[in-house]
Amino acid sequence: MTATTTKIANPREIAQSAMALIAELNLQPTPQVYHVFYAYIADEIGELSQIIRVLVRNTQDLNEETVYRLYHKYFGINSVDEKISAGVEGLQAAVERVETAVDDVLRETEGFSVHLGTAATRLGDKSITLEDARNLTLDLAHNTSRTHETCQAFRGTLGEYHGEVRRVRSELELVRRDALTDTLTGIANRKHFDSALRQAVTHSMETGETVSLLMIDIDHFKNFNDNHGHRAGDGVLKEVARVLVNSTKGADTVSRYGGEEFAIVLPDTIPENAEKLASKLLNNVSSRRIRNKKTGEDFGRLTVSIGITAYKLGENIMEFVDRADDALYRAKQAGRNTCVRVD
Ligand code: GH3
Ligand code: MG
Ligand code: MG
Repeated sequence: MTATTTKIANPREIAQSAMALIAELNLQPTPQVYHVFYAYIADEIGELSQIIRVLVRNTQDLNEETVYRLYHKYFGINSVDEKISAGVEGLQAAVERVETAVDDVLRETEGFSVHLGTAATRLGDKSITLEDARNLTLDLAHNTSRTHETCQAFRGTLGEYHGEVRRVRSELELVRRDALTDTLTGIANRKHFDSALRQAVTHSMETGETVSLLMIDIDHFKNFNDNHGHRAGDGVLKEVARVLVNSTKGADTVSRYGGEEFAIVLPDTIPENAEKLASKLLNNVSSRRIRNKKTGEDFGRLTVSIGITAYKLGENIMEFVDRADDALYRAKQAGRNTCVRVD
């Protein structure tokens, strides 16, 4: 077996090795199978690589169905891309239905218009008999009713189309929200933080209002995990996130910056007020007793350290974030459970 997950950086080599392995395992090279093996060779997802390593050693369990199951688990229907493509496909189908309905209406109204022209000419003929005039009128009434029905059907199709647009729009809104939310704590994730910060800085450049930034890191969190377990640690992250969100107002973006670190973007906030908020946060976190939700066991208290800084007009965002990081570092150096402002 040539199966290996030694890291290969070059996409061409990854693709070739993935195809070679698919052929060696006698699998069909469908896009899904290729996707899974490409990820395996590139070692993109540790857990997936481990499963395939085992399967490659026990080829009797390795068939297309197993690979499809892996595909759906790791890249499947829940992935943002697939939801977006499903939405786009739904819209395309709706647009096609509308186009067909528009064609029907055009054909019908064109036919009706020709018919109307002919009837007008014949009705204008002074020698027309009463019987012919009567038949022509009935014919016109029939055609008018048919055209009306086609227009009604068109209105129905448009209604369906609007329904589809509304459905796709709300689905995409959910996808967008998912993509910006931290799965553990439910608050904004790093991506959301980046965009909120960019937006706040742009707003500051336009209006001259000050943006402040708080970087918050839980103190000695490694000890907490070591003493009470990772799962209890996860509970603490949720609790701290809740305290931060409940202590801030709507315009502020509270995000999980990474691991046990949080960041709060404060638009239209001068650093003195950011400092006041930081003191309130220190107090709101440290005054809480942390308990195990299930057993009620008291884990004691936790503290955080906070770095504070404000945006200086003209600097780039990295400099701004680095200064907040530096302020946080100084707060740790100052003994933790404190905040430091760097101007
Ligand atoms: P300091 O006061 O200097 O910040 O010390 P610390 O122990 O908090 O910092 P350190 O960076 O050494 O450790 C951070 C710890 O945070 C290590 C890691 O186990 C924990 N951590 C990071 N992300 C998560 C997570 O998602 N869940 C849990 N339970 N722990 C996490
Ligand atoms: Mg920490
Ligand atoms: Mg940290």
